[in-house]
Amino acid sequence: MSNSSLVNYTRISPNQYGKRNHKIDTVTIHCIVGQCSVETLGSVFASSSREASSNYGIGYDGRIGMYVAEDCASWCSSSYSNDQRAVTIEVASDTFEPYKVKDAAYKALIKLLVDICKRNGIKKLVWSTSKNNRVNHLNGCNMTVHRDYANKSCPGDYLYNLHGQIAKEVNAQLGSLTATESKPSVIYRVKSGGTWLPAVKNLEDYAGLKGKAITDVAIKVTNGKIKYRVHVKGGDWLPFVTGYNTADYINGYAGNGKPIDMIQVIYTTPADLKKSKGAYRAKYRASAKKKEYGSYQYDNDKTGNMKGYVGTKGKALDRFQITLSK
Ligand SMILES: [Zn+2]
Repeated sequence: MSNSSLVNYTRISPNQYGKRNHKIDTVTIHCIVGQCSVETLGSVFASSSREASSNYGIGYDGRIGMYVAEDCASWCSSSYSNDQRAVTIEVASDTFEPYKVKDAAYKALIKLLVDICKRNGIKKLVWSTSKNNRVNHLNGCNMTVHRDYANKSCPGDYLYNLHGQIAKEVNAQLGSLTATESKPSVIYRVKSGGTWLPAVKNLEDYAGLKGKAITDVAIKVTNGKIKYRVHVKGGDWLPFVTGYNTADYINGYAGNGKPIDMIQVIYTTPADLKKSKGAYRAKYRASAKKKEYGSYQYDNDKTGNMKGYVGTKGKALDRFQITLSK
């Protein structure tokens, strides 16, 4: 274990317990109540009369300060036992409810949390809106808040209400580290006969019902980005979409309820995956009603026999398959 390499400024505070007596397994996010810099927070914690400190602090500008080494316990959360096991992080905030923090500070907080989790073997952050779950670390809960231990609003409603989102963002980044080990998957589903059919994965199955026109398509990937569009029979190409949500008709799926005759999909490989494994492309095919599958298309490539999309103008599609490939 070491300290975070993301630290921009260090000023060790005398206000601390010294070496921890508990393994780090928790994070506690606080609000500073002031849009201050890491230097200002450092001078506040340098004063022994303040009787307060934190392991890390994040300034309004997203810079990160360290005031108590990570292997030592800070005086931060009004709880001896919490401060022994938690990495405490103060974040510059407004001085008034809901103690909003700036985007730069929020982004730095996510980065710092990912770094803390990685170095301390915390596989994921688990938040609960139940104080009982938090303080007793039930159901894997490993995020606590100052208001659990003292009559304070800290971390303020702004950060408090974002805790679920914070966990989600951090976990996505922790998860993407393992996702880079292998090829991402494509999850997709289509609407056929007025019903969204169950999602299928890669080439394990196909999406669609033989003999029934596909009218809408939703596609997502487990890592990276995908954009796709469809051409409506007797109509035009509809705009590209990037989402996967059958309730979002603007960006959650491609289609307008009318039979689809052509589909185009383009995959973008994340930089880290591209570096370790190389670039992938969307590899997909479709069949027109009562016909065999056409040949595979890669992204919007037009080399060889590829047209840049699958399908044929005027012929409604009934089955669709997609995976990623080099
Ligand atoms: Zn606090």
